Amino acid sequence: MPTETFEFQVEARQLLQMMIHSIYSNKDVFLRELVSNASDALDKLRLEALRDDSLDADVSDLHIDIETDRQTRTLTVRDNGIGMSHDEVVQLIGTIANSGTAKFLRELKEAEGTTAAEGLIGQFGVGFYSSFMVADEVTLLTRRAGESQGTRWTSSGEGTYTIETVDSAPQGTAVTLRLKPEDVDDQLHDYVSPWKIREIVKRYSDFITWPVRMVPEAADGAEGADDAPREPETLNSMKALWARSRDEVTDDEYHELYKHISHDWSAPLETIRLQAEGTFEYQALLFIPSHAPQDLFMQGYQRGVQLYVKRVFIMDDCEALMPPYLRFVKGVVDAQDLSLNVSREILQQDRQIQLMHRRLAKKVLSTVKDMMSAEPERYATFWREFGRVLKEGLLSDFENREAILGVSSFATTHDKDEPTTLRQYVERMKDGQEHIFYLTGESRQAIENSPHMEAFRAKGVEVLLLTDPVDEVWVEAEPAFDGKQLRSVAKGEVDFGTEEEKKEAATEREGRQQEYAGLLGWMTERLSGTVKEVRLSSRLTVSPACIVSDTHDVTPALQNMYRAMGQDIPQVKRILELNPEHSLVSGLNRAHAERGEEDGAGLQETAELLHDLALLAEGGELGDPSRFVRLMADRLERTL
Ligand code: ADP
Repeated sequence: MPTETFEFQVEARQLLQMMIHSIYSNKDVFLRELVSNASDALDKLRLEALRDDSLDADVSDLHIDIETDRQTRTLTVRDNGIGMSHDEVVQLIGTIANSGTAKFLRELKEAEGTTAAEGLIGQFGVGFYSSFMVADEVTLLTRRAGESQGTRWTSSGEGTYTIETVDSAPQGTAVTLRLKPEDVDDQLHDYVSPWKIREIVKRYSDFITWPVRMVPEAADGAEGADDAPREPETLNSMKALWARSRDEVTDDEYHELYKHISHDWSAPLETIRLQAEGTFEYQALLFIPSHAPQDLFMQGYQRGVQLYVKRVFIMDDCEALMPPYLRFVKGVVDAQDLSLNVSREILQQDRQIQLMHRRLAKKVLSTVKDMMSAEPERYATFWREFGRVLKEGLLSDFENREAILGVSSFATTHDKDEPTTLRQYVERMKDGQEHIFYLTGESRQAIENSPHMEAFRAKGVEVLLLTDPVDEVWVEAEPAFDGKQLRSVAKGEVDFGTEEEKKEAATEREGRQQEYAGLLGWMTERLSGTVKEVRLSSRLTVSPACIVSDTHDVTPALQNMYRAMGQDIPQVKRILELNPEHSLVSGLNRAHAERGEEDGAGLQETAELLHDLALLAEGGELGDPSRFVRLMADRLERTL
């Protein structure tokens, strides 16, 4: 068979260069990566054999063998799993399909030489390529189960690799590393030493559910040594961590399992265990990662919970087990009473699975809640990484809405750096304040400068500043926390203060109302094309006017979002509020009373300008900007 030579894709080449120059301080992990791939290959074969009776494959003795040879300085990791076809080898081993990897490489380049670079590297698993940390040549011989021919792949990691079709190869994959000469005499990196192999497998791969065996090397040079029995020694306990009692398992062991499942090399932020007994028995071992993956908000993001049935791996990315807003949770759920043949469709409809889903979601939320009170710093990390995705649950998970609000944090006028929880907000509420106030907007600065905030600032009433796009949506449902409704400061009437203050304000308003009744009626009529009402405001202290939405109306930002999604929704008219303390407003009132209808055009234009100024102040877009400019220039000219 001819040997073909291929070039590595650019990203793959960069990654390999990094491996060759050993960017990881701990080289031992290459073995963990190879064993992890081998274990996945065995899982895949067992599943495929289960689903396809006609598959011509031997599944009677699935295992992983590690062989070393001191003479040739080689180490081989061999599995009799699913294997790869010729095309799969080219595709899976020669390129990096994962878009997250490309992004990682870019970030790494930018951070080169800084301490940030080390942090980045630590978070990133590179699987098979990590072999090049310890090897100057790697050969992979593989045959896909059910196929007759095999494929041999060889590379020294320097830009090209060769591929050759071979007639006879055992089912599965064998990866052979020719170890770098400098490592062999170095006790720490002596990867042909049984002692070293035993130690690494025990440390990183003990939980692997397949036997990981070491095949003893033939004794050096001794005649006839090959005839001596060479019984392989099983190195791992194969005990599923979730089935062992809690105090038997160390944090390190949990973390290794996490790495195996998540391909994330940094330790998880939190480990969660759940044991359900009774009619539907299951065990769950879940992890909250310590950082959000790059593609969390991309379409097709794979959720990280694996389903096992009685210790047998069934599927990755089991969406029936976790709601979408908890898609960052990784882990394993092992159910006792499901069929090994269970499909995704069946899972979606299964009542027991739905109950399990609910219980797992609640468990994750309660864990975050505990973290919030016991370990505020850890919680802060959680919120920074996953807050935005968690808030999606406020829209979709009605049952847990209050629980999600309870573990959420928000930027606040109370503190310019630290976000607040709703519990803390409620504790700071003023006498007579019934609602939790918020304002949504593009940025903290835009919100803080909005005219709607004036009276709140003057009275020292705290306002939450919501700037995530998702915030516009969930607040529409007007959720409550601890019996207090969340209210926008840009909607409806504002009333806060003690009973006495409220009474006082009402009396004052009544007096003002009579004084301004003429102007308000006239303006409401004149501006009826744009607003539904003109009224006096109790939320302004310095601005002449602002525009607010009616209590239950959809905000302009949300209207825009709906339109961007292609929905045809009618323009909702809002309310123009005037500040009677402002001399422009009181002057307009006087002018209207004196000249009334006689000076129609001039007063009308001023009324329009007042509206447009209010719109600009909240960052809105004018309906007719050129008319605004003309009217404004005209008035400025008169001041010269
Ligand atoms: P990862 O395991 O993170 O996907 P790797 O570079 O380690 O990345 O492997 C790339 C792909 O190559 C794997 O996803 C798998 O499909 C395939 N692969 C690697 N090792 C084996 C193996 N021993 N048997 C079968 N397929 C394998």
